[in-house]
Amino acid sequence: MDALGRLRTIGGDRLVDEVVAVFRTQVPGRMREALEAARRGDAPAVAKLAHSLKSSCGQLGAAPLARALEAIETDAERGDLTLAARRFDALALDLDAFLDSLPRPAPAAAGTDPGRRLVGLVEDNDDTRLIVRTILEQAYRVEECATGQEALDRFRGRRPDAVLLDISLPGIDGLEVLARMRADPELARIPVVALTAHAMVGDRERFLAQGFDGYASKPILDERDLLETVRMALEGAR
Ligand code: MN
Repeated sequence: MDALGRLRTIGGDRLVDEVVAVFRTQVPGRMREALEAARRGDAPAVAKLAHSLKSSCGQLGAAPLARALEAIETDAERGDLTLAARRFDALALDLDAFLDSLPRPAPAAAGTDPGRRLVGLVEDNDDTRLIVRTILEQAYRVEECATGQEALDRFRGRRPDAVLLDISLPGIDGLEVLARMRADPELARIPVVALTAHAMVGDRERFLAQGFDGYASKPILDERDLLETVRMALEGAR
C-alpha cells in the first residue's frame, strides 16, 4: 500500500486531507529556511531542518525527496554546506512536482460537509480547544482560532453561523472581540457564546447583559450541555 493509502487506513480521507494540508503549508517554507541556513553557514540548523523535512516527505511517500534530504543531512553533519545548498537547489523542482501530485481535498470530505453549520471556536488553550472542537464536530463544522485577532481576520473571510468565544485571551480579550464583532456589519449578527473558566454565581446573567447570546463554563463537564448551548444560540440567531 502506498503512503497515502496507509494514512487513509488510519484516519480516512480526512487524515489524508489534513496531513497534505500541513505538508503544503509548512514544507516549502522549511525548505527555504534550510537553504538560507546553508547559505549563512549554520550547519546544525540545516541538519535539523533536513531531518524533519525527510520525515515529512517520507511520511507522504516522496521517497526520492526523502533520500535527497537524507544526503543533505549527512552533508550538513560533515560541514559541507556548499554541497547541501546545491542539493537544495536541485530539489526545488522535484518538490514542486510532488506538491502538484498530491490530492486536493474533496469539497465535501468528512467534517467539512457544507450542509453542516459552521461554528467559530476562539480559545487560546490548545488542549481545551482540542476538546471543545472534538465535541462540536459531532454536529458542526468548526473554524478554530487561538487569538481574538486571528478570529476577527478569519471570520470575515469565512463567516461562522455561531461563535464560541473564550474570555481571557492573549492580546485582545473576549469582551473586546465581541465589541469589535458587533461593530462590524459583516459579523454583527452572529450569535456569540461566552466560554469562560470564571464560573461564579451570576456570571451567566453578567455575560448575557454584556451582549453574549449564551454562556458555557469550563471545564466542560457535560458535552450535551455545550452542544445544547450552541444549538440554542444558533436558533436564536438574530
Ligand atoms: Mn483563555
